[in-house]
Amino acid sequence: MMSEKTSDVVIVGGGVIGLSIAEALARAGLRSTVLDRRELGREASWAGAGLIPPVAERPSKNPAAALRSWSARLYPDWSARLRDETGIDTGYRRTGGVDVAWTESDDLALQSVAGQWRAEGIAHERLAPGDSARVEPALNPELRAVYYLPDRAQVRNPWLLRALMAAVSRRGVRLKPWHSVEGYSLRGRRIEAVRTSAGEIPCGLVIVAAGAWSGPLLHSIGVRVPTPPLKGQIVLLRGDTPLIRRIVEHGKNYLVPRDDGRVLVGATEHDAGFDTRPTLGDTRDLLDEALRLCPILSQAEVEATWAGLRPGSVDSKPTIGPAPEFANLIIATGHKRAGLQLAPATAELVADLVLGRPPRLDLDPFRPDRPPGSVGDDSFRS
Ligand SMILES: Cc1cc2nc3c(=O)[nH]c(=O)nc-3n(C[C@H](O)[C@H](O)[C@H](O)COP(=O)(O)OP(=O)(O)OC[C@H]3O[C@@H](n4cnc5c(N)ncnc54)[C@H](O)[C@@H]3O)c2cc1C
Repeated sequence: MMSEKTSDVVIVGGGVIGLSIAEALARAGLRSTVLDRRELGREASWAGAGLIPPVAERPSKNPAAALRSWSARLYPDWSARLRDETGIDTGYRRTGGVDVAWTESDDLALQSVAGQWRAEGIAHERLAPGDSARVEPALNPELRAVYYLPDRAQVRNPWLLRALMAAVSRRGVRLKPWHSVEGYSLRGRRIEAVRTSAGEIPCGLVIVAAGAWSGPLLHSIGVRVPTPPLKGQIVLLRGDTPLIRRIVEHGKNYLVPRDDGRVLVGATEHDAGFDTRPTLGDTRDLLDEALRLCPILSQAEVEATWAGLRPGSVDSKPTIGPAPEFANLIIATGHKRAGLQLAPATAELVADLVLGRPPRLDLDPFRPDRPPGSVGDDSFRS
């Protein structure tokens, strides 16, 4: 797209999407500037759980599923490279997971999802009644159905963000916290500068990756890409010893065991505007479900709780592509529940656009001006 003045690429938003794009560009020798209105990496990307889907053996025809699968495939090497370059472990682990059902309707829903796993060649096994302890001894034996997914993975997102910041800093990317973007200087179809709380920054190319704040930031220059915030709360538990060993999922609820005995209990979904205050009601609901799934968690200490804002989209698909209204604006946002998992693939695709390479995945289904109503991919929620 823009080979002209690629040295002054300005990325708006220092979450996992903005930082991953900066990293992909830096690997190609292009040093961008990343602006954030506060510290980098402290919004949704910090608040998330870090669930990463298993790799699919067969390509899906659903473009969102194809993006998910490619990104999952990139994760192990991406994480290893970041660790080798920075000495910071991202916490990427193939812990394995179980997806469970309490009721007949839960079970039917899971059977249908399992059909999709089969079609995509995602390893899974329906465990025989009484056999779940083989995979996860902490599971409630009263569960009606348990599917085991050996390749379900996770990343410690705060560690991943630290690794990304360290990697890009080493490659000369300028990280600018406390630079809130407040507007743009326009000339015709070009953005000539980004106006921030700390002054104006001239640019050859702007990439908006400002999570749930992208929609309003784009709207101010007539670009309509809504990113409605979807609030999600998590409770962090801590055990003296590891109390569970697999990721446990039931619909929107999940338990994510970290190496150090901590367990993330997630996650709620509310339309609460930009309010990120955790509530007692949500804490109670999350803990009730956690105790029902794995009663042994009653021994755990409650360490913390927080909430973050998933950047929504009208069709549950991210928006990745050039804004048709401008000659030098790329948008990478709206990743909703999947921004951590989709970060490496999103970054590669944006790098393709910036460097004028043919995108390695068809970007048409993700373009900012796509027609409404196309289908997303909800097979691995978080
Ligand atoms: C509870 C919860 C659990 C989740 N679990 C998972 C999971 O398991 N797996 C998964 O893949 N995804 C998960 N997600 C979703 C994931 O966290 C998001 O999709 C992802 O973090 C979005 O990244 P982002 O960089 O677009 O947004 P953000 O991380 O929100 O970053 C946007 C950045 O833009 C900055 N910004 C905003 N306005 C401006 C401005 N005017 N000027 C400059 N900077 C600005 C913000 O300060 C922020 O740092 C979860 C989310 C939540 C809330």
